[in-house]
Amino acid sequence: MLGLMQDWPLLMHTVLDHAAAQHPKREVVSRSVEGPFHRTDYATLRGRALRVAQRLAKDGIRNGDRVATLAWNTWRHLEAWYGIAGAGAVYHTVNPRLFPDQIAWIMSHAGSRILMLDLSFVALAESLADKLPQVERFIILTDAAHMPRTTLRNAVAYEDWIAEIDGDYAWVKVAENAAAGICYTSGTTGDPKGVVYSHRSNVIHALACNQVDAFGLGSADRVMPVVPMFHANGWSLALAAPMVGAAMVMPGARLDGASVHELVAQERVTFSAAVPTVWMMLLQHLEATGGRIDSMNRVAIGGSACPAAITRAYQEKYGVRVIHAWGMTEMSPVGTLCSVKPEVASLATDEMLRLQAKQGTPPYTIEMKITDDDGRPLPWDGTTFGRLKVRGPAISRRYFRREEEEILDGEGFFDTGDVATIDEHGYMEVTDRSKDVIKSGGEWISSIALENAAVGYPGVAEAAVVSMKDAKWDERPLLILVMKDGAAAPALSEMNAFLADKVAKWWLPDDLAVLDEIPHTATGKILKTRLREMFKDHQPA
Ligand code: ADP
Repeated sequence: MLGLMQDWPLLMHTVLDHAAAQHPKREVVSRSVEGPFHRTDYATLRGRALRVAQRLAKDGIRNGDRVATLAWNTWRHLEAWYGIAGAGAVYHTVNPRLFPDQIAWIMSHAGSRILMLDLSFVALAESLADKLPQVERFIILTDAAHMPRTTLRNAVAYEDWIAEIDGDYAWVKVAENAAAGICYTSGTTGDPKGVVYSHRSNVIHALACNQVDAFGLGSADRVMPVVPMFHANGWSLALAAPMVGAAMVMPGARLDGASVHELVAQERVTFSAAVPTVWMMLLQHLEATGGRIDSMNRVAIGGSACPAAITRAYQEKYGVRVIHAWGMTEMSPVGTLCSVKPEVASLATDEMLRLQAKQGTPPYTIEMKITDDDGRPLPWDGTTFGRLKVRGPAISRRYFRREEEEILDGEGFFDTGDVATIDEHGYMEVTDRSKDVIKSGGEWISSIALENAAVGYPGVAEAAVVSMKDAKWDERPLLILVMKDGAAAPALSEMNAFLADKVAKWWLPDDLAVLDEIPHTATGKILKTRLREMFKDHQPA
């Protein structure tokens, strides 16, 4: 027997249709790439997104074609996003912070036929154009007055381009399982991999993100997505905010502390989301200027572990609740959020901060487990750590153009590549990446825990831990340090005396090396592959 409910496919354009019908005048404010602030609303934005869809159809874009964007968070990028998906095509958000060769590789792999780009990226695109023969047309997200001279093929100003049709159009019909977007992982291990979102997964994911114990957005919120739309599906905010009719405040190209503060204060932002570095920069700005962020009541911080010092400062000094979040491109991307269940609500301040350093619990639609190397489930006791695996309707089951590759286990779980503990209340804490964990005598040592402890040593600017081959234990930890200007590096014995009450005795590093600089990825994470290569034959002195 079938249920007798309507067949209403979960398509991305339904989100914008809803925003335009129910919240037509709700503001979308942007700091434009040209400079001035720009103000529009959901009804206008929907009309212009429809024009994008119609204009793409006129350029010959058909169902399933990829259309790339190289752009900051602005109203035009939002219109392009919905317009591309609403044309039945697939938005491909390209991360401009990647190395130019990686961008060319990703663009060719995705086979994007059109590239829409901000003025900031014209020179970059020109330098890559020869490597992008499949791109038929470059659309510059600006108007005629700001259109630069350029050698880009068939270049046109976006405003002129969408003026060439009448806007009388209907969204192209696709199935809810059709591809809507593609985003590449940053490729710290091997080539970047294409994660393909469907209309259905995007809508389900945004619904999950909007629950009270997740982002908890509502129509009274003024949401500032500092996390760029090109990073991990923009943490779903381009869907989650219009879905509930929240106003949007788009920061454009300027993400420094002073610019972010100006937006929060001027536009009365209530909710925002970004990586810890951004919140660190804002904090430094506030401390230096005595600025306030009184309109803001919560902030989602993720992408890498959020230090307790940041959480404490925002909560205690500025009255902003920190929601520590974890996720990955393959998970659309939100996986867990650290909100407070009644079981832990009465924790004292310091224990609460300790809890908030955990990455949290998954919303409905995400199942989690931790296992050993052989796939056997491990207990949720808060101390046993294992491979973190996840299952759900907005999690990858295959990568683009690698469809023959099985990436799920026998039960349909995806291995996140993270190593984690889960406590008795279901709170997950990332202890390492599985490739970075040190396997010593069959037991695991968390490189992150060692690094976090080592940066507490006076004068240490940055710390990284990689494994050294060891005849007896298989692998042993090597601690690599970068010192602050003028600070003397400690001897191994001094460092180990400092670490002794912070980690287990058998975790203590067997050697210590000092570098002037530690290599980083384009997204600012320590490049452990490079460090492992540099120290592959290293033996303790
Ligand atoms: P990128 O490398 O481009 O940032 P992703 O956003 O997909 O790509 O990276 C996902 C990975 O980032 C996760 O598997 C995890 O290792 C790390 N990560 C994300 N959020 C957190 C967090 N809150 N704490 C610790 N690690 C995190």
